[in-house]
Amino acid sequence: MTPVSSTLRSRRIVLASRPNGKPLHTDFRLEEAPVAEPGDGEMLLSVRYLSLDPYMRGRMDDRKSYSPPTPVGGVMEGEVVAEVIRSHHPDYHTGEMVLGRLGWLTHVVSDGAGLTKLDARFDPVTTALGVLGMPGFTAYTGLLNIGRPRPGETVVVAAASGPVGSLVGQIARIKGARAVGIAGGADKCCFVQDELGFDAVVDHRAGDFAQQLAKVCPKGIDVYFENVGGPVWQAVLPLLNKDARVPVCGLIAQYNDEHGAGPDRLAATMREVVSRSLTLRGFINTEFAAQRPAFLNDVSSWIADGRVLYREDVVMGLDRAPEAFIGMLEGRNFGKLLVDVTGTTR
Ligand code: NAP
Repeated sequence: MTPVSSTLRSRRIVLASRPNGKPLHTDFRLEEAPVAEPGDGEMLLSVRYLSLDPYMRGRMDDRKSYSPPTPVGGVMEGEVVAEVIRSHHPDYHTGEMVLGRLGWLTHVVSDGAGLTKLDARFDPVTTALGVLGMPGFTAYTGLLNIGRPRPGETVVVAAASGPVGSLVGQIARIKGARAVGIAGGADKCCFVQDELGFDAVVDHRAGDFAQQLAKVCPKGIDVYFENVGGPVWQAVLPLLNKDARVPVCGLIAQYNDEHGAGPDRLAATMREVVSRSLTLRGFINTEFAAQRPAFLNDVSSWIADGRVLYREDVVMGLDRAPEAFIGMLEGRNFGKLLVDVTGTTR
C-alpha cells in the first residue's frame, strides 16, 4: 500500500504496558504512521469522536474475561464515530458518518466490515456513542429485562450522572417506579436530582453514606442496578427487599484492584441471597442485541418528548484520551466521556 500523502499521518494510542492497579500515563504511548491509500472496495475514515468506557480497563489486563485483552503494543480498543473522507467502496460515500470499533486513532482504511452507517436519528452524532449507543442500550436492556421495575417500586442506581446510570433512573421513572441515584460530589448530585428528576440522590463520598441511603429508601430497595460494587454494594445489600432484582452491569470500584477481589464477604452475601430470595443476574449488553430496534424507538421518542435528558463530557484532542480515561476511573468525568479527536488540544 502506498501513502496517501507525505503529510497525512494517522495518530494512534497504543497500550505501552499492562497497568499494575491504577493505570498510569506511561501505560499508554502516542504513535504516528503514514496513512495508506484505500484500494478497491476500501475507504479512508477520519475519526471524529472516540468513546471512553470503563470496560477498556479490563482489556488492559491479561486476565480471562468475556473478551480477549489488548496486546501490549496494540492500539487501544474503542468505539468511534468517523467520517468517510475518501471512498473506493460502492456502498459508502464521502461525507457519510459511520459507527465502528476502530480504536483510539485518528485515521484508518476500512473495507466496511463491522461498520454501521449513522442515519438522521443520531443527531448529534455523539449520541451514537452514548444515550443512543452501547451505554444507553445497556441501561435499557439491563433494567427492563432483569430489573423489571413495577410502579411504586424503588430502583437504586450508582454512577447516576453517567450514561448508563442516568438512563436507568429516567427509565425507572417512566415505568412508574421511584428512582434513587448515587453519585460522587455535590455537582453530580444536584444534576441527578434537579435536572434528571430522580426522586432522591445520595453522595457516596459522604461519611454517613449508608445511613443517608437507608433514609431515602424507607420502603427498602426493589431493584438495584449494580454499576460500581465495593462499599456502595455493601451499603445497598442490607436494604434489599424480598424478591429484589439486581442486574449486575459493572463493578467500576473494583476495576483497578490488581487481584480482582476485596475482603471475602461471600458467605454473608449468600445468606442474604437465600433468606430474601434475591436475584443477582450479570449481563453483557450484547446478549440483548435483538432488542436494538425497540431501544432506538423508545429512547429516541423519550428524548424527543423531553422525558430523557443526557449529558456529555467532551475532551479535546486524542492525546488527552489517556488522562481522561484515568480520570473516569476516579469519577472525574461528568456525563458520557468522549474525545473530540479532531479538536485542538489545550
Ligand atoms: P460513567 O458513569 O461515565 O463513569 C464511571 C463513573 O463511575 C464515574 O464517573 C464515577 O461516578 C463512578 N465511579 C468510579 N469509581 C467509583 C467508585 N470507586 N465508587 C463509586 N462510583 C465510582 O460510566 P458508564 O459508561 O455509565 O458505566 C457505568 C458502569 O456500567 C460501569 O461499571 C461499566 O463497566 C458498566 N457497563 C457495563 C456494560 C455491560 O454490558 N455489562 C456496558 C456498559 C457499561 P461518581 O463520581 O458519580 O461516583
